[in-house]
Amino acid sequence: MNDLLLALSTRPLVCDGAMGTQLLASGLDSGECGMLWNSEHPEKVRGVHQAYRQAGCDFITTNTFGGSSFALARHDLSERMAELNRAGAQNARQVAGDSAWVLGDIGPFGDFLEPLGEMTAEELLSIFRVQAAALIEGGSDALLIETMVDPAEMEVAVAAVKACGSLPIIATYAFQKTGANEFRTMMGTSVEEAMERAIVAGAHVVGANCGTALSFPDYLELARQIVRVAGKTPVILQPNAGSPQFVGEQTIYNATPQDMAAIVMPLLDAGVRIIGGCCGTSPAHLAAMSRVVAA
Ligand SMILES: [Zn+2]
Repeated sequence: MNDLLLALSTRPLVCDGAMGTQLLASGLDSGECGMLWNSEHPEKVRGVHQAYRQAGCDFITTNTFGGSSFALARHDLSERMAELNRAGAQNARQVAGDSAWVLGDIGPFGDFLEPLGEMTAEELLSIFRVQAAALIEGGSDALLIETMVDPAEMEVAVAAVKACGSLPIIATYAFQKTGANEFRTMMGTSVEEAMERAIVAGAHVVGANCGTALSFPDYLELARQIVRVAGKTPVILQPNAGSPQFVGEQTIYNATPQDMAAIVMPLLDAGVRIIGGCCGTSPAHLAAMSRVVAA
């Protein structure tokens, strides 16, 4: 186990923000595979990492969210799973140097496990193992398994990382609010069950990222609930830049850096130990947030 968990016990840490929208701003065509840029335009990917590093982020998250072979198959790139994940970790490592931690990013594989879908847990385990091994080989300090909605998939992903070594595992789910004002994942999983299953599987840090149409007061309430069920396990929260507005076919997140900075203290007071951003967040948002954490 490296020094990440030790640092976390002494001070709150700042994760980084969105990658996809930053790559689009750097010239990526929508529809193009952003992960391909890990190998084809590594300087652009490192440019985004650099901006987050300069914003004061303690963590640099690899550009490998859709890095399972199943997700890469949409772009006909599944054969390059190991290479693109390894390159993603190397890009992040190069920017992070010795002064920030690299989080190897694993997102959902993109479909349902059996019996809803056709993927077996065994098959998915072997896919995530290849991804995790490549992320570790490329220089990750810890693995971030994020935006999960199915605790069974989370368990498989945690098991895959554990099979590759003993790096810290950060496990986060995406929640939405039900009509009954409860937080549930898209699969209907409660906060309590989601966190417990991740912790029992072996996650070292748990929490939430992204989410569907959650307001800042929602994120704060969600954070309180997670802290309550997580017990001694440190909690991470990576909210979107506010609730999305739908303009034509575009989804726009309107929260300003100041808006997001304003929720940092309440989240820390609620017991959150790692704060970052998800959809719609930029280096400017993270810079404003990290100033509050540092103060
Ligand atoms: Zn998101």
